[in-house]
Amino acid sequence: MPTPGHIAVVGASLAGLRAVETLRRRGFDGRISVVGAESALPYDRPPLSKEILQGKWEPERTRLRDPASYDELEVDWRLGVRATGLDTATRELELDGRERLGFDRLLIATGASPRRLPGTPELDGIHTLRTLDDALAIRAALERGPRVVVVGAGFIGAEVAASCRERGLDVTMLEALPVPLGRAIGAKLGRWLADAHRDRGVDLRCGVGVAGFEGARRLERVRLDDDTLIEADLAVVGIGVAPETDWLRSSGIELRDGIVCDATCATSVPGIAAAGDVARWHNPLFSTEMRVEHWTNAAEQGAAAGLRLLCEDHEAAPFAPVPFFWSDQYELKLQMVGHVSGEDELRIVQGSPAEGRFLALYGREGRFTGAFGLNRARQVMQQRVRIAEGISFDEAIAQAS
Ligand code: FAD
Ligand code: NAP
Repeated sequence: MPTPGHIAVVGASLAGLRAVETLRRRGFDGRISVVGAESALPYDRPPLSKEILQGKWEPERTRLRDPASYDELEVDWRLGVRATGLDTATRELELDGRERLGFDRLLIATGASPRRLPGTPELDGIHTLRTLDDALAIRAALERGPRVVVVGAGFIGAEVAASCRERGLDVTMLEALPVPLGRAIGAKLGRWLADAHRDRGVDLRCGVGVAGFEGARRLERVRLDDDTLIEADLAVVGIGVAPETDWLRSSGIELRDGIVCDATCATSVPGIAAAGDVARWHNPLFSTEMRVEHWTNAAEQGAAAGLRLLCEDHEAAPFAPVPFFWSDQYELKLQMVGHVSGEDELRIVQGSPAEGRFLALYGREGRFTGAFGLNRARQVMQQRVRIAEGISFDEAIAQAS
């Protein structure tokens, strides 16, 4: 492949920014255009559900780079502009349904958007949380001291519930599954996390469904499937996200719950790569396809996919990370590495929940698949290396105990 003259990036957030930074660091001196639907320069999402909602940070602190440092990247930013189509034959993006932008290579990093409960009425007080604007709207509402209902005890639900409790608010958290974060950390640790929220005053109700939201103009109550009514002034709905791929529907790029990529982050169309929450790729380390919705993956895959655009196919390296996430709830610092399933065996090898810090390892069919730590950051990162080395579950237990 000759060196491209013009690289376009769609999605001006973490994965897109890391791709641009990598391209410049590796000496790419051609034109770079970045198209982003939000009008802000790239900012960090993790503080939105934590420091921003708790009122500890102002929006400026969420910036991913100092505004003064953008000049050196020499990027043509097209912010507040949405890509609405992609013509892979002419290699052009359609912007806001009218303008066209040609490119030689393209990185797609459009992330994901919150799912909504079907039939949600147009009432004030019902929110989702993905953007800085969403977080500021919720924070303004929290300042009025509302009774809060959080729908979904996934990452958003658990972190929002914790931030609201830190503000001293009444919080009810509703989850369809038997425990919070069950898919991510498994049933056993999910039960521990349920107790942690209840101990800190959250009215956590699991195995329940939401039938609807009620009120005259504002939210007044949430009705559950069994007709129980919960009085509420504010609801934050965190029931998962959908990858942002609608705009690619007629592009011919292969889509399946995300943009399908090979092990090198290349899509089904030559010269087009994808990264971050939107990308589903084959991770050779686990011999499986995955789509990861966490910060470290967006940063690492953004960098890898940016480089991919400069490579000939035969030079391209596979992207084979051990997934990692962290989540801060109250004083609890949760960290996890690996790729686990609900059936994996779990062994606590250091500390205990009662001590307020522990390290737990996951294994399946003799293989070491993951590690979870509470207030054990360094130890969790050590396991990231060991999982990549492919050691057995028994070896992992012996080394960590
Ligand atoms: P995104 O950050 O979603 O960015 C995609 C960008 O593309 C958006 O700006 C969007 O507007 C834009 N876009 C979409 N469609 C178009 C289009 N058609 N044209 C132009 N632009 C478009 N992860 C952790 O590991 N730890 C945490 O503690 C943590 N906390 C989080 C807290 C919150 C509130 C949220 C929402 C997420 C959190 N995450 C956390 C997850 C992490 O932030 C995401 O995985 C990461 O932001 C994904 O980055 P991305 O660049 O792939 O996508
Ligand atoms: P999530 O982590 O996927 O959790 C959604 C939860 O809501 C799941 O437990 C889900 O159960 C449940 N749910 C689904 N439908 C429901 C319903 N009708 N009623 C009640 N519960 C329902 O998604 P999220 O919490 O909305 O987070 C959004 C995105 O932000 C994710 O990509 C997440 O990774 C990211 N995020 C990450 C962090 C972090 O890494 N620390 C922090 C915040 C946000 P099922 O699994 O059965 O669908």
